[in-house]
Amino acid sequence: MVMAPSVLASDEVYVSNNHYNNDHSSSKDSKLVSNTTLNHGVNDLYKAKLASKDLVFEVLKKRVASINVDRCEPGEEDAFYVADMGEIYRQHLRWKMNLGRVKPFYAVKCNPDPEILRLMAKLGNGFDCASKAEIDLALQTGVDPSRIIYAQPCKTKSYIRYAAQKGVKQMTFDNADELYKIKADFPDAELYLRILTDDSTSLCRLSMKFGASLDVARSLLELARQLELNVVGVSFHVGSGAEDPKAFLKAVQDARWVFDQAAEVGYELHTLDVGGGFCDETFEKFAAILSQALDTYFPAQVRIIAEPGRYYVAGAFTLAANVIARRDVRDPKDPSRDAYMLYLNDGVYGNFSNIIFDHQHPVAQILTCVETCPGSSDSDGSSSTSSLSSSGIDYSIWGPTCDGIDVITERVTLPGLVDVGDWLYFENMGAYTRCSATRFNGFTDNHDVIYISSETGASALLDY
Ligand SMILES: *Cc1c(COP(=O)(O)O)cnc(C)c1O
Repeated sequence: MVMAPSVLASDEVYVSNNHYNNDHSSSKDSKLVSNTTLNHGVNDLYKAKLASKDLVFEVLKKRVASINVDRCEPGEEDAFYVADMGEIYRQHLRWKMNLGRVKPFYAVKCNPDPEILRLMAKLGNGFDCASKAEIDLALQTGVDPSRIIYAQPCKTKSYIRYAAQKGVKQMTFDNADELYKIKADFPDAELYLRILTDDSTSLCRLSMKFGASLDVARSLLELARQLELNVVGVSFHVGSGAEDPKAFLKAVQDARWVFDQAAEVGYELHTLDVGGGFCDETFEKFAAILSQALDTYFPAQVRIIAEPGRYYVAGAFTLAANVIARRDVRDPKDPSRDAYMLYLNDGVYGNFSNIIFDHQHPVAQILTCVETCPGSSDSDGSSSTSSLSSSGIDYSIWGPTCDGIDVITERVTLPGLVDVGDWLYFENMGAYTRCSATRFNGFTDNHDVIYISSETGASALLDY
């Protein structure tokens, strides 16, 4: 595995123990909490995150200071990202610490940014791809085709032939027709039977579309056997943005049952793919339940892989957008309800597509404004003369297209007066944002990304 020498150095390792406190901790968890080295690591993580935010903010400020909206060329004030690759690196350390047995195959669809893919390759991760173009992106990083899984159970036939030609052998299936397609076009493929999971608590449910139920698993394995296909493992996905960690326990138990069925049919399966669905906020809690389930049901010789997407990249990207218009909305009966409508040059047809497709609620923050409310944390001292209310100003925030659904936030209170030409920024915009943007109404879907690194380990790998 290619990795910076510092990846597992003890002073950089961290485990957040926040989730264990009011939880029914297993003895293993308690041991982690009492480990002073790891507690020291938690502080390091916290400090690193704060330092990262400061660094990102500086870079955002510097960029917008260089743009004069009154004189710039069309589009120079377009929305842009700052990507902190150090954040992805820290998420990787956290993964290693909590799920050391599980090898990540990054889900390319979540954010196919080439710098992300380059870093994933350098970290030793594999790739989960679902199309020819994603396979190409993964191969362009220079990784061996064995580090790619074509994890789409319903594939395009010509793409199966393409995978065969490129040597991308690992792929998933969940139905009989797929087995006949694979038999015809890539009989040597290494197959994973994708099974259904209970994803009823997840943000984006996948099981109504994909996954074989347990009652058909056996007959699919028997058909694969008849066709002399090479089934090597089981995969599942508990749903993107999963909320119930028990979903992992149940899915691992079901996978065990399928491994046993496969043995009866004559397959010695060697790999379990536990899919994606991990989130930043709940990671340690999920990882603890998953690791324990894996240790209970799968002996050490079974290889475990996963397909995390959101977990790795959501926090790494911050988006800045320009206020292109403003509308004053007065309430004649109640002046305290006065508000503004702000129109940004990015919306749900653009990078805020995560509002529609990923059920997210991006939070606006002020990057620049004409006046700061007194007492706000951004206040710079000059606010004592301000006529603004200290409780902030209410805004609704809209995208640039002519469609009424193009709304980013219906009501938000911000600690300052924002005018045309000012900038807002939004953190946690790395997952399912840019990749599902459109060019509807003629607005661009091609936004600049400024890459930085707040971790020396990531800098060493990426050369910046
Ligand atoms: C979308 C997807 C993933 C990634 O899911 P996250 O919730 O972003 O971790 C992984 N595997 C498959 C098959 C997917 O469809």
